[in-house]
Amino acid sequence: MTLTPLGGGREIGANSYLLNLNGKSILIDAGRHPVKEGYDSLPELGKIDSLDTIIISHSHYDHISSLPYISSMWPDVPVLMAQENRGLALRILQNSVEVMKKKNEKDGEQPILYNHGEVNELKRRIYTMEYFQRYTIDDTVDVALYPAGHVMGAASIYLEYKNRRILYSGDISLSQQLTIPPAQLPLKVDTLISEGTYGSKENELLTRFSEIERLSKSVKRVLENNGRVLLPVFALGRGQETIYMLMSLMERGRIPTVPIYTNGMVASISNLYISNYERISDKDRKWFMQNFQKKVTVAPKNIERLLFSKEPALMVFSAGMLVEETLSYIFAKQMLQNANDGIYFMGYQSPESDGFKVLQAHKNGEKQITLGEETIDLNCKNIDIFNFSGHADYQELLELPRKLEAEKLIYVHGDEAALENLAAELQYEFEIEIPANLQTVEL
Ligand SMILES: [Zn+2]
Repeated sequence: MTLTPLGGGREIGANSYLLNLNGKSILIDAGRHPVKEGYDSLPELGKIDSLDTIIISHSHYDHISSLPYISSMWPDVPVLMAQENRGLALRILQNSVEVMKKKNEKDGEQPILYNHGEVNELKRRIYTMEYFQRYTIDDTVDVALYPAGHVMGAASIYLEYKNRRILYSGDISLSQQLTIPPAQLPLKVDTLISEGTYGSKENELLTRFSEIERLSKSVKRVLENNGRVLLPVFALGRGQETIYMLMSLMERGRIPTVPIYTNGMVASISNLYISNYERISDKDRKWFMQNFQKKVTVAPKNIERLLFSKEPALMVFSAGMLVEETLSYIFAKQMLQNANDGIYFMGYQSPESDGFKVLQAHKNGEKQITLGEETIDLNCKNIDIFNFSGHADYQELLELPRKLEAEKLIYVHGDEAALENLAAELQYEFEIEIPANLQTVEL
């Protein structure tokens, strides 16, 4: 029984893992690299000789965005995912088609990896699963999904084959977020395949809730100084968490009441969250819905006026790492030139991303920054990053394998240093492997 990362080994990339359970080939997740473009953004698909099942943990770009491409290559292979994830997955993949088309129109070089028709084809191939329910693949492998916290629809994937119990954590959060309850775990496993996003030493002291305090002070200062604040987010998860947090800080008078703007994709997923998410109370749902309708405005198609406006406002825009041509990118380029405005990143920035570049330039006190092909003045002084990820924090990452009493621990989905740091911390308790892409390890 083996695991081979096709992406996401010693990195956060085109996360996709090929499991071989005595001849059964199971592909877990089908992401694209968050920063690479075109065919380079895909997992190493040449490694797949045969495929029996695809299982998707959740609908973030780096876990799902190559699914229509792979599924078109293997049209008879069933795709399993949580019931709650289905609508989100289809919505997000349709949006990916639009983003690829837009880039293709702009430079003519970017390939359109799949079209709306291929996303629609998925509807026939997706088999949805209820959390905690056991299913059997070809009478040999048992599979079950456990809620992973993290975002709506997210699952940890449990597999059992010949008495070997394996859990792929997926992106997981063991603690309560504002809009998402914590993960629920199986009792015990033999092998844990764990993410390690926040495994580095520098994350040891950060906790999710001390960050709300820090952010609210920063936001308040910028708004009271007549500035605008851009909060780049992932449309799924961070988008809803950020809007929830801002609305509740306003309600409690902790930050001034100003308009909150968001973009179509964040709004659309927030509406799916309000109507389909089952794991929150009716009271919370109602509060979120009423406040959302009252306080949040979708940015108009013609953005010129908003882009150059001087009115204090909060902009909750995707993409979270300032991917080129997204609304967060367009506004960042403008706001970086204004001394009064603020840009506060809401979570992890990949070292290759423009978000990371902005943070570095600010840290180094640079006066100019080049984004895309344009060099602009960097006058904005209010730039910072906050740890609002929906991922397990450092302590939770150490706790996870201990709770599950795993024997073997395989780390994926994290910067190399972060995964090495976790492995060093736990080396006397578990047998640990950190496979690189295309490196096969025993489960
Ligand atoms: Zn995720």
